[in-house]
Amino acid sequence: MGWFKRFRGQERAGKEPAGSEAKSPSTGGPESPAADAASETPETEAEAAGGGLFARFRHGLKRTSQLLNTDIRDLFKQEGRLVDDQLLDELFAILVRTDMGVGPAREIRDQIGSDFRARVVPLRDVMQAVQDKLRQLMAQSEQPIAFAQQGPTIILVVGVNGSGKTTSIAKLGARFARQGQRVILAAADTFRAAAVEQLTVWAERIGAEIVTGPKNSDPASVAHRAVARALESQAEICIIDTAGRLQNQANLMSQLSKIRRVITRQIPEAPHEVLLVLDATAGQNGISQARGFSEAADCTGIVLAKLDGTAKGGVVIPIRQQFQLPVKYIGLGEKLEDLALFEGDRFVDALFADVEQD
Ligand code: GDP
Ligand code: MG
Repeated sequence: MGWFKRFRGQERAGKEPAGSEAKSPSTGGPESPAADAASETPETEAEAAGGGLFARFRHGLKRTSQLLNTDIRDLFKQEGRLVDDQLLDELFAILVRTDMGVGPAREIRDQIGSDFRARVVPLRDVMQAVQDKLRQLMAQSEQPIAFAQQGPTIILVVGVNGSGKTTSIAKLGARFARQGQRVILAAADTFRAAAVEQLTVWAERIGAEIVTGPKNSDPASVAHRAVARALESQAEICIIDTAGRLQNQANLMSQLSKIRRVITRQIPEAPHEVLLVLDATAGQNGISQARGFSEAADCTGIVLAKLDGTAKGGVVIPIRQQFQLPVKYIGLGEKLEDLALFEGDRFVDALFADVEQD
């Protein structure tokens, strides 16, 4: 079970794996072989059941996984039943219920139709075809943060209120701090006083410096000061928190654009990453709300938070489809360690881990 070990390895080491884009800003840095070594640590399924990140990941996929295991199984276990339009429609209806979205469900139905029409197919072949198609739809390697070639890496974090931005920033900051990098957090959500307090508490916990401004002060000025501070103190990472709601949506979007402009004036390549935080429990409505952000802020990747809080983790599939952005990280709880890199194949592995093939 290589995927299982890899997941646990990542979880234990809390490290970014080697990636061609990623550069280690400090000596040793994120690409130390420790992550690989840790992934060889023997693990057992029993340990996983203890409620670690992997168990929560699997739990998040439970509903999708169960439907594959029960309804699709029942459908294809019917003696002598041919693959015809009626069966394909039934298959489509089940797939839609797995939260994967209509587009992917249609692609899978069409694939099964073209592979097996007018035949009686063993369940194993159907499951394999579904799995192959999902792998194709979800194809995405781990995509750690694209670090700056030199100087601080500036990460802007956007998303609707309550999606998990501030918590995800704390988790990311903790991850980089653990790797020995100097982290600066910027509380550019100046609209809510509580938002600044929340980030301040996290900054203390992870040993990061924080740059704040008075309530309702210009968020772009907070971002500007944070980037200036990162340059001056030779920090490796600067993560900027932003508001998820203002008096109106147009204000919010122009605020995000302004923050971007200000940062780019200081460092032409910055922001190096713009992460869109999505709430996995918010469903389709949350996804459409987030679309405005992804367009206004020119996002580079997604952090899917609260995947532990839903059994409908199948929602990763339409998210990958609809945003055309890599899912970089998944949030699996409220603690600092509850963040994992996402990888398409590992997702499909977890989805099919309990699915019986015969
Ligand atoms: P923000 O408004 O986008 O900054 O969202 P917050 O970071 O304040 O998070 C909103 C709520 O969601 C808080 O209660 C967090 O503890 C919770 N939360 C954030 N990420 C996760 C996660 O991955 N799993 C769970 N279970 N809760 C989370
Ligand atoms: Mg917040």
